Amino acid sequence: MDLHFRPMRLHSRIQETPDTFTQNFVPLDGKPFVNRPGQFTVVKVGETGVCRPYTVSSTHGISEFVTTTVCRVPGGCASNWITTVPVGSTVYLADPMGDFTCDDDPMEKFLLMASGSGITPILSMTRWLLVHKPRVDIEVVYTTKSPAHIVQRDWWRVMTECRPELKTRIFTKENACTPYLTGRLTAERLAELVPDYAERRLYACASPGFMKHLDTWRRTLGIDDEHFRTEAFGC
Ligand SMILES: Cc1cc2nc3c(=O)[nH]c(=O)nc-3n(C[C@H](O)[C@H](O)[C@H](O)COP(=O)(O)OP(=O)(O)OC[C@H]3O[C@@H](n4cnc5c(N)ncnc54)[C@H](O)[C@@H]3O)c2cc1C
Repeated sequence: MDLHFRPMRLHSRIQETPDTFTQNFVPLDGKPFVNRPGQFTVVKVGETGVCRPYTVSSTHGISEFVTTTVCRVPGGCASNWITTVPVGSTVYLADPMGDFTCDDDPMEKFLLMASGSGITPILSMTRWLLVHKPRVDIEVVYTTKSPAHIVQRDWWRVMTECRPELKTRIFTKENACTPYLTGRLTAERLAELVPDYAERRLYACASPGFMKHLDTWRRTLGIDDEHFRTEAFGC
C-alpha cells in the first residue's frame, strides 16, 4: 500500500505515565489532519526507513493538536525514538487509516474495553461519542499496571464525575486504591460490572494476548461477532 506522509512539527510532549508520552503535532502544510475516532497513522522513524503504526489519540474537531500516545517498549526502535525526538523536530505521519472506528455506528450503548496502551483508540472514541451522540451510554473497562500507569487519569476522573452517561471501571494490577478495581477480570466479573452488556456494542483494543482472553469471555457471555469490534496492537 502506498502511504501519503505529511510533515508535522512536534509542538510539545506530555508525560502521561512513567513509560507513556503524548506527542502534540501541528501539520506543517497547514491543512487539517482529519482522523476518524479510533484510526491510526504510520510514523516514519527519522531517516532509518523504519515505520510503525500508532493510533491518533486526538479527536478531530475536538482536540487542539494531532497526537500520538506511545508506550516505550524496552529496546523498541520506534517507541523510544518518537518519545525522545526533540520538540521542534519535523516528523512524518501518514494519512489516518483503519476501520476500527465508531463514528458510523447507529448504536447508542457502548462497552469500550482496553488494556495498557490499547486505551489510545478508546480515548479518541470516548471523546467523540460524548460530543457527537447526545443520548450515548458508555461503559469503559480498562486494565493497566498501576494507578500511575493510567493514561489521562485526570481526564477520565473528571469526565466520569461530570458526565453521567460515562462510567469507567479501571483495573490496576499493582497498588490498587479507590476508585480503582483489582483482581482478575473474567467473563463473570465483566457481566457483574456491566449487566446490560448484551445491549451494547463492544469495542476492544489491547495486545493479542489480552484479546485472546477477551474473545473467550465474550463467547462465554454470548456476545456475537456483530457486537464485537477489535484492534490488536503488536504481535
Ligand atoms: C494499529 C496499531 C496501532 C497502534 N497504536 C499504538 C499506540 O497508540 N500506542 C503504542 O504505544 N503502541 C501502539 N501500537 C504498537 C506499535 O505499533 C509498536 O508495535 C510498538 O510501539 C513497538 O514498536 P517499537 O519499534 O518500539 O519496537 P520494536 O523495535 O518493533 O521491538 C519490539 C520488541 O522486540 C524486541 N526486539 C527488537 N529487535 C529485536 C531483535 N533483533 N532481537 C530480539 N528482540 C528484538 C524489542 O526489544 C521489543 O521488545 C500500535 C500497533 C498497531 C498495529
